[in-house]
Amino acid sequence: MDEVFLNGQFVPRDKAMISPDDRGFLLGDSIYEVIRWYGGYFFDLSGHAARLRRSLHETRIIWDDDSKFEEIAGELIQRNGLGTECAIVYFQVTRGVAPRTHAFPDPPVKPTVYGFARRQSINTLAAEQGVGIWLTPDPRWNRCDIKTTALIANILPYQEAHDRGFAEVCFVRNGVVTEGAHSNIFFVRGETLYTHPENNGILSGITRKNVIAVAKGNGISVAEEAVAADMIPYMNEAFITNTTGEIVPVTRISEQVIGEGTPGTLTRRLQRLLREHIQSLDPNH
Ligand code: PMP
Repeated sequence: MDEVFLNGQFVPRDKAMISPDDRGFLLGDSIYEVIRWYGGYFFDLSGHAARLRRSLHETRIIWDDDSKFEEIAGELIQRNGLGTECAIVYFQVTRGVAPRTHAFPDPPVKPTVYGFARRQSINTLAAEQGVGIWLTPDPRWNRCDIKTTALIANILPYQEAHDRGFAEVCFVRNGVVTEGAHSNIFFVRGETLYTHPENNGILSGITRKNVIAVAKGNGISVAEEAVAADMIPYMNEAFITNTTGEIVPVTRISEQVIGEGTPGTLTRRLQRLLREHIQSLDPNH
């Protein structure tokens, strides 16, 4: 039986109980993080910790023990025997348990803090062959920069894309491509990499940040500028990024084939460079 973390304790998953009055359950009043473990070390744990703290700050959820996040993540891996595996840690903090009302509990209650680890390898087929993604208007709120668990506006379009045979849905707002339901998107035109700027229209992806740094560090020009949806036919390459998939080439966007319909040259190069960067973080390297 795997062990999860709940409110300060590690317990077997089937012993973990959460009240039906939890505001995460009733209202989606809750934030989360997902971190990747590469069989011996986390990828950019400090980046994830900083984003978790930002999400807490922006939602005014107070978790006094937030300094323990890194330690709990490591312990989840060890307790579940995942030390040498490829795995992810999921971590969630809700505003806590209180009778249902919109107002914050007064006096404040302790947040509900939950985490689990599970084995999860990289989808090498998608990384090799690329995927098709579906473009649709962005139905989400105006604070996409917060990593909230209230994900129904991501889930419904994603399911529609999935039913149509696409691997991801990608959103358009005010005529520009913002991001995917659970990924950031990059385009290549000529020698330049384009991606939506960091603002309330997208989640600031940890993979996105690292891809930008790796690209710049290798002399690749990066423009943090949104791409207009009607410019997609003029893009040479595209790819999506996230913690679970790293860099996944995009070969089709709705009906539009991108480039040659196969993963592009710069995309391939960035996949290699990111992989080298990840491996260089291995303490046993
Ligand atoms: N955008 C959204 C909406 C996401 O849910 C995710 C996945 N967390 C990302 C972007 C990519 O973020 P990261 O690289 O930190 O996984």
